[in-house]
Amino acid sequence: MILNKTNKIIILGPCALEDYDQIESVAAMAQSIGVTYLRTQVFKPRTSPDSFQGLGEKGIDVIKKLHSNYSEMKFVCEVCSEAHFETVKETANIIQIGARNMQNFELLKYISKNFDPSTHDYVLLKRGFANTYNEWIQAANYLLGDKVKKENLLLCERGSRSLTSDTGVSLDFINALKAKNEGYQVIIDPSHGSKKSDYVLPLAKASLAMDFKGLIVEVHPRPSESVSDKDQAISIEDCKSFFNELDLNE
Ligand code: PEP
Ligand code: MN
Repeated sequence: MILNKTNKIIILGPCALEDYDQIESVAAMAQSIGVTYLRTQVFKPRTSPDSFQGLGEKGIDVIKKLHSNYSEMKFVCEVCSEAHFETVKETANIIQIGARNMQNFELLKYISKNFDPSTHDYVLLKRGFANTYNEWIQAANYLLGDKVKKENLLLCERGSRSLTSDTGVSLDFINALKAKNEGYQVIIDPSHGSKKSDYVLPLAKASLAMDFKGLIVEVHPRPSESVSDKDQAISIEDCKSFFNELDLNE
């Protein structure tokens, strides 16, 4: 067990849930190193309508089967609509709102009203890749209310469009620090924040050096075969050394 004493929120898993064997192999590794939260993404907002859109409702059966074998594990699901929320609300412990939906205000209002603290630990709000700090915080304000308290909210910096990086995206640590200094729980996504697996470990180290609340990292059993975001996924094999190097225990 590598992460037995961490107080950080560590989320890992594939970009998209592809099938039971894929997610099970990531879950087994995650459990062995002490990670609690697994990415189980069944709805994928994709640039092209011809790309894999996620397993959808069929994925819920996969998550249920996984739950029966890994009852300690908790699950993170992205939702893009009210219907998606209804589909995942019983199996997801973290409700993720992706960068593209940061300003889907009706969705934010719906989640604010229907968040269930008895099942849902957090709502995770990613910053849009072309949104200002103020827009991010105002989006967060749509979520906060009777059910979603500040302690249930995770803000996630996942990189903004950039003309200067070779991958077209740069992590914006300054605005992430600003949110942290204003009392929000901020986690960093070094995977979408760099788009390249080589950069994920150094960015994760930098995030922890800045004392952010946690990390969300894409991991795949065979990155080159991933149906989405294959260049940024780290392999299961590399995961142990990745977390050993991060030295997360208090
Ligand atoms: C994701 O985390 O799977 C994702 C789609 O990220 P983002 O919304 O940041 O692009
Ligand atoms: Mn992805």
